[in-house]
Amino acid sequence: MRRRSWYPGHIAKGRELIKEALRYANLVLVVLDARAPLSTFPPWESPKGKEFWRVLNKADLADEEATSKWLSYFGEKSIAVNSKTGEGVDGILRRLRELSSPKVMVIGIPNVGKSSLINRLLGRRRAQVGAVPGVTRGGIWFKESWGLLFDTPGILEPKLTEESKLILSWLGCLREDVLWESLVTPALYLIERLSLSLSLEELARRRGFLKRGGEPDLEKAASTLLRDFRDGRLGRWTLELPPCSGS
Ligand code: GDP
Repeated sequence: MRRRSWYPGHIAKGRELIKEALRYANLVLVVLDARAPLSTFPPWESPKGKEFWRVLNKADLADEEATSKWLSYFGEKSIAVNSKTGEGVDGILRRLRELSSPKVMVIGIPNVGKSSLINRLLGRRRAQVGAVPGVTRGGIWFKESWGLLFDTPGILEPKLTEESKLILSWLGCLREDVLWESLVTPALYLIERLSLSLSLEELARRRGFLKRGGEPDLEKAASTLLRDFRDGRLGRWTLELPPCSGS
């Protein structure tokens, strides 16, 4: 049986954590999936006096030209990275070094790569900061050569609209089974969106996903297709372009 309840608990904790850490942090790195930088922007407003940058993560899975368009659209407080390999993270570090002792925290919706980014930003010589005023629970501040980094990501629940619901399912930012009775639905929409010349039946047969009577297992094919897309095995795709980007 599928579990229906999942994040309310840790999302509520996430909000509390962000509120608490933000009393001390002065720069927020909002991690987005470069494949959909609007749909993956969390429902969050930067409090007055706090700066925030957009980190377009998983840039290795996004269309390069589209990512350039997004970067020019968002302006200088945006940067594209691959937190899995660390590519581009030196660009963030360079910018952090230009600031006078930034106190940085990382936030975002589930699965965009917050923990991966934090791991990349944490230097090898990890030194904990003792007794930081204002922050007592939920995470640790680490002292880096450029400033301070909060080691725990703030997790926010994504905004769910009809359009973002599909995109977020494709990107793995939601538990799809909470939203969909069957993964066949988002998988079919994905096939349509990417104009793939492939059906779930074919995929199931090709991979040998057969049920007992020899029928293709469409549910398994759907979940495999979604996972392949998520991990970039269907190529590099950007699902949203900036308004007025001319394409
Ligand atoms: P979090 O839930 O936001 O903390 O996300 P994680 O850091 O746990 O990453 C979620 C998944 O995405 C993991 O499988 C990571 O290995 C993968 N991931 C994170 N960043 C990147 C990236 O820049 N490129 C690729 N290809 N995968 C990434």
